[in-house]
Amino acid sequence: MTIDKSWIREHRTSPKFLEGLKNFMEIAMKHVDSEDKVHCPCVRCVNMYRQLSSTVYAHIHDRGFLKSYTIWIYHSEKHSVSDLGYNSTPINIPTNNEMFDVIDDVMAEQNTNEENTDDEGQGMDPEFNALFEQLNTKLHPDCEMSSLNFLAKLLHIKVINKWTNSSFDQLLELLGVAFPKSKIQTSHYEAKKNLRKIGLGYESIHACKYDCALFWKENASMQNCPICNESRWVDTTTKGKRVPQKVLRYFPLTPRLRRMYSSRFTAKDMIWHNTGRSTNGIMYHPVDGKSWQEFDKRYPEFAKEPRNVRLGLAADGFNPFGNFNNNYSIWPAILTTYNTPPWICMKESSFMLTLLIPGSRSPAKDIDVYLRPLVDELKMLWFEGVQMRDASTNTVFNMRAMLLWTINDFPARSSLSG
Ligand SMILES: [Zn+2]
Ligand SMILES: [Zn+2]
Repeated sequence: MTIDKSWIREHRTSPKFLEGLKNFMEIAMKHVDSEDKVHCPCVRCVNMYRQLSSTVYAHIHDRGFLKSYTIWIYHSEKHSVSDLGYNSTPINIPTNNEMFDVIDDVMAEQNTNEENTDDEGQGMDPEFNALFEQLNTKLHPDCEMSSLNFLAKLLHIKVINKWTNSSFDQLLELLGVAFPKSKIQTSHYEAKKNLRKIGLGYESIHACKYDCALFWKENASMQNCPICNESRWVDTTTKGKRVPQKVLRYFPLTPRLRRMYSSRFTAKDMIWHNTGRSTNGIMYHPVDGKSWQEFDKRYPEFAKEPRNVRLGLAADGFNPFGNFNNNYSIWPAILTTYNTPPWICMKESSFMLTLLIPGSRSPAKDIDVYLRPLVDELKMLWFEGVQMRDASTNTVFNMRAMLLWTINDFPARSSLSG
């Protein structure tokens, strides 16, 4: 059944519009998330923001409905051309072969990582062994899907639909009871632990309560701030596990870049900038810009290796997921790599979260304290570089990286450059 959408072009006070809006709200109500929010197609939110259903009604009523929004993909309408049988977000079911590829790539990456150990290939990591075993285990005697595939797919559905961990646990428990012969993990924790080996970790770095310094590198073992002498811990009198005053979460950049080069699919994209320059004088990508070309002239050594990485850093005035208008207790710093084509480098999935800075407001002039791990790593990548394996050509090379620019508003710019 097709829904009549002609009302969205009517004036927002007309009876036809109001009737259509009522019908739309009935559909929208079916797609609220656990917080009772849904994408708002009003002319200002343009589906970028999720709002309470009552707010969505008020927005559309007062501001009007986005006229170009004729296929309601955010409200579970299928694209008529690709009727896949899935609703709004089609899920790719990884085949067993794809999962083999993923684990293969990660293993090869680990081998380049631990060059110093000689017994390459011989002493296979027991955790990888376990993963391979799960890949070869059928979920169920009559099922072609492996238990690892099932797990990856289920976790994917969990994430895109924002299921809570406990609801996931309950589902797994039910599945385990209903299909006793199948090999299903018993809890979300187990499931994540299982896939962690393929994923990427982060470091927790303690920080002074007043943002003067990090307890890191030369300060790692200190118990009090080297500048203001404030204690590192919340309560110094209690025994047992101590709670740090502030924690910075740092997601090292090198393993992520290594991951991009270790997959045949993404490694190819990393040299796009070398071949994809605009030829008709129109600027499509920063590579066509003056500063990029100026940089190449000044550092020909760096420019000679197209696999060297060029990065942009966004730390403020930048709203990648459209939900930072709330009182969050954390401030993100995000890197993106400009080596890739324009249709990849500005996609959400290409943004690399590198720092989660504690504090509800912008860290202002103290940001350089928190940027230190990133700055140190960038310096290392600029001056020395690291050994990388390039899966697309199966070669090892020395990769360097540079920060092309930062993306921020003017107040943040002064604190960033400070
Ligand atoms: Zn709105
Ligand atoms: Zn301090």
